[in-house]
Amino acid sequence: MCGIVGYIGKKQAFDVVINGLQRLEYRGYDSAGLVLIQNETFLMKKTKGKVSDLREISQDLDKTAQMGIGHTRWATHGVPNDVNSHPHLSNSGELVIVHNGIIENYSAIKTMLTEKGYHFVSDTDTEVLVNLIEFMQKSSNLSITDAVRFALNEVIGAYAICVVDKKEADKIVVGRLGSPLAIGMGKDEFYIASDASPFVEFTKEAVYLDDGEMATITKEGVDVRKIADNLQVEPLVQQLQFDLDQIEKGGYDHFMLKEIFEQPKSILDTMRGRLLSSEGKIKMAGIFDHRNRILKSNRIIIIACGTSWHAGLIGEYLIEELARIPVEVEYASEFRYRNPVIYPTDIVIAISQSGETADSLAAIKMAKEAGAFIYGICNVVGSSIARISDAGSYTHAGPEIGVASTKAFTAQVTVLTMIALELGKQTGELSNEKFHKHLVEMEMLPKQVETVLKLDKEIQEIALAYKDATNCLYLGRGYNFPVALEGALKLKEISYIHAEGYPAAEMKHGPIALIDENLPVVIIATKGHYEKVVSNVQEIKSRKGKVIAIVNPGDTEVRAIADHCIEVPAVEEFLSPIINTIPLQLLSYYLAVLRGANVDQPRNLAKSVTVE
Ligand code: GLU
Repeated sequence: MCGIVGYIGKKQAFDVVINGLQRLEYRGYDSAGLVLIQNETFLMKKTKGKVSDLREISQDLDKTAQMGIGHTRWATHGVPNDVNSHPHLSNSGELVIVHNGIIENYSAIKTMLTEKGYHFVSDTDTEVLVNLIEFMQKSSNLSITDAVRFALNEVIGAYAICVVDKKEADKIVVGRLGSPLAIGMGKDEFYIASDASPFVEFTKEAVYLDDGEMATITKEGVDVRKIADNLQVEPLVQQLQFDLDQIEKGGYDHFMLKEIFEQPKSILDTMRGRLLSSEGKIKMAGIFDHRNRILKSNRIIIIACGTSWHAGLIGEYLIEELARIPVEVEYASEFRYRNPVIYPTDIVIAISQSGETADSLAAIKMAKEAGAFIYGICNVVGSSIARISDAGSYTHAGPEIGVASTKAFTAQVTVLTMIALELGKQTGELSNEKFHKHLVEMEMLPKQVETVLKLDKEIQEIALAYKDATNCLYLGRGYNFPVALEGALKLKEISYIHAEGYPAAEMKHGPIALIDENLPVVIIATKGHYEKVVSNVQEIKSRKGKVIAIVNPGDTEVRAIADHCIEVPAVEEFLSPIINTIPLQLLSYYLAVLRGANVDQPRNLAKSVTVE
């Protein structure tokens, strides 16, 4: 959450920082601010609101400075207002900071600093940190680098920070623990950002700081050290694997719509080089290299949050059915705090689009300490979860900017499907013939998704009929129960219509009480459990509920009674979650647009939840 950008070099820093903030706005968007550093003075602008508001109030700013830092906020401490916006100054006005994360012991530090005569103008934990740095610096006469290091050793919590000292205005000091920070490596110029999107147009080389590392960045170079003991670290320079056009809207009204429409390609990219149907093979090094360990385990635990957790649930159905290995799916936040039983033989699959999800990271660390084998499924290359895992698979969905996850979700399910098939083959649950047949079926997914996307206009019209709904129920069975959960989550996230997902059979145990002529019920009535679902549709219609059904060609029974049918290609049940998710994404999208909601930046949400 929150985006940080910094620049030091030979360009006008303002442009780099403000355009970078715009690209990072998906990470937090309740306030924005920046400071330019020139001739040992700070030129600062900050405001509640969007990056566009910041741009507006910065019109009169002298933009010649070649060094600056900026921030888009997702408030944790203190309401979004101008004063709480970052950057924050120290009491002397000599230090300035931007910060992503939470300083958990800020209250004790604030009390200590208040006793020493410090005062605070904002409610943020960040202002406490910058004053702690100043206090350390002044009381021990330290350089800014040493003062930051000393202070960071005192704080508990999560952070990615950029700090500048007026008295040493040729450097930006950065550090991270728990929140991501990347350094773009140019020639005599360096970029700093929460992810590489602000600088990918300028350089393809990046250094991702590890947890517990800090760096002092000047025009001459980058000096990376361990925060704990000041040991120098040789930075690992990585090549970025995406281009600018992948992080721009490309003619679509919203990133979310663009990303929905990218799914034929993102699913293909996820399968590329892995699903080799002509050779009758799935080639996933992470699984193949560790097959003995995986096959010897008695169970798999899937850890995730939010949409990734829904992908995990589908993974459970897939792996249990196709490979007959027991699977448990856990919310990372619950798992890490409930003293779970973890065996050294366990395989833990962690799923996270960003690879930075704070709760998932903490849960993995716990499982790792207990000796479990960690398999990461992430979209962001080089992310923390990817690095801490013993093995894993990238989803290769490309950068996902829309806060509501779409293509990353289907890519996660694609990876899980390949894992399940490969494990099914390894365990002998799938005969060669069946395995091969499934590969051929799976290979057709991108084309089938393309067919579903052609329903765009039809779904837009259906949305029109429900734009004033206040509640919505999503029902599905088997593999499509998690799809119902995901459909409901998508609707809640971006349209603010209250929605619940349920296994269709559970309807009778509570939600049926809600059904009346005002309640739309989205029900997945494709192949698999069809007859049972038809009965559920009857039950809803008998109570005057409005039914929007996802059906396969040839369906007559549901079509005869449902209010609206969305017809998607018939696929094997184990592949149906990917197909059936797409119309639900489009439905949420159009409902949100019709209600005037900000689809790409829904209120209170942020992508990449790097705080607990
Ligand atoms: N805790 C800080 C604040 O509330 C930073 C939040 C963020 O990561 O945006 O200002």
